[in-house]
Amino acid sequence: MGAIKDFIGSLLLTDFLKGMGVTGKYFFARKITVQYPDEKTPLGFRFRGLHALRRYPNGEERCIACKLCEAICPAMAITIESAERDDGTRRTTRYDIDLTKCIFCGYCEEACPVDAIVETHIFEYHGETRGDLHYTKQMLLANGDRYEEEIAKRRALDAPYR
Ligand code: SF4
Ligand code: SF4
Repeated sequence: MGAIKDFIGSLLLTDFLKGMGVTGKYFFARKITVQYPDEKTPLGFRFRGLHALRRYPNGEERCIACKLCEAICPAMAITIESAERDDGTRRTTRYDIDLTKCIFCGYCEEACPVDAIVETHIFEYHGETRGDLHYTKQMLLANGDRYEEEIAKRRALDAPYR
């Protein structure tokens, strides 16, 4: 019985017509394919992308070298060395993140008491060698300087939930 049904179905092209029905339905539906990179999907304000070290408005580094981020990092991607400055404050002399180890968990920014290390909305970056993804303190501070406006906006949006 099943064979006869299949035979009649093949004569009447039912599978073909069903397929054309699906094609026709989506031909007129709203298109959801994003033409990246010309078009981009919206990002949540908690998106965890490329890291940055922030400064206060007077230019002073926020990071106080407490090393909480280094301690909490499950991937052991952060390396910090610190020293006391002439004014008695403590600052990092080395702050490296190896992005080939990082799993973008966000623990470092959660642990930071002064909102110094953050993960930005930037996800379009790459490295051609392993070393290119080893971000030094100067590179991280440069990210912070460059994206501070967007970082501050996203932190303000997240503030009511923290
Ligand atoms: S996001 Fe997670 S894995 Fe990456 S540096 Fe921060 S704590 Fe480490
Ligand atoms: S980035 Fe924050 S948590 Fe990490 S050492 Fe600096 S102040 Fe401490």
